[in-house]
Amino acid sequence: MKETGTGDAKVREDICRFGRSLFERGLTPGSSGNISVRLDDGSYLVTPTNASLGFLDPARLSRLDAQGRLLSGDAPTKEVPLHSALYHTRSAARAVVHLHSTHSVALSMLPEIDPHAVLPPMTAYYLMRCGATALVPYYRPGDPAVADAIKGLAGKYSSVLLANHGPVVAGDTLEAAVFATEELEETARLYLLLRGLNPRFLSPEQIADLVKKFGLTLPAHGH
Ligand SMILES: [Zn+2]
Repeated sequence: MKETGTGDAKVREDICRFGRSLFERGLTPGSSGNISVRLDDGSYLVTPTNASLGFLDPARLSRLDAQGRLLSGDAPTKEVPLHSALYHTRSAARAVVHLHSTHSVALSMLPEIDPHAVLPPMTAYYLMRCGATALVPYYRPGDPAVADAIKGLAGKYSSVLLANHGPVVAGDTLEAAVFATEELEETARLYLLLRGLNPRFLSPEQIADLVKKFGLTLPAHGH
């Protein structure tokens, strides 16, 4: 496989379709957000720099080799290191989605956030799609230290929230990564709606039942 259109046409269409859907629902504004998919040959398709997810052109997506060098298409998003860090530590990951989604960004700034679980166990679907979500501290855009911070999580989290910035979520498929990012955003929204109202979250017994029934692997939570 080389250059455009040889075997990756469906993936290109899927990236553009999911990107448009996310953009049109207000889940990432302007030219924010980016999507990547790891292909069978170890190369990557990535959304280009300064591209709105609402108006992607399948033929202009950036194709990168396994080392991150541009093979074809436009220059890739400057946020490639966020994606690479997750692929680096999660060998099963086939897609990564990064958004600047409002409620997740709001959540990332709250003082009570646990960096090992940014959200309490609110719904079964949050636990099933996202597991726990880790918080990575604020870094200036383009600072390579953010990739090191993600690598420091050692692949234990498929779902990471960058403080004052937004979520980065890996999945076994593009669809899984998109749905998990949406689940994180909607759960962050629920949390903000319920904040201060003393809501009932899932009990340890209810979580244990989900873990057993669906074979979830939640990161060990030491405190
Ligand atoms: Zn970003």
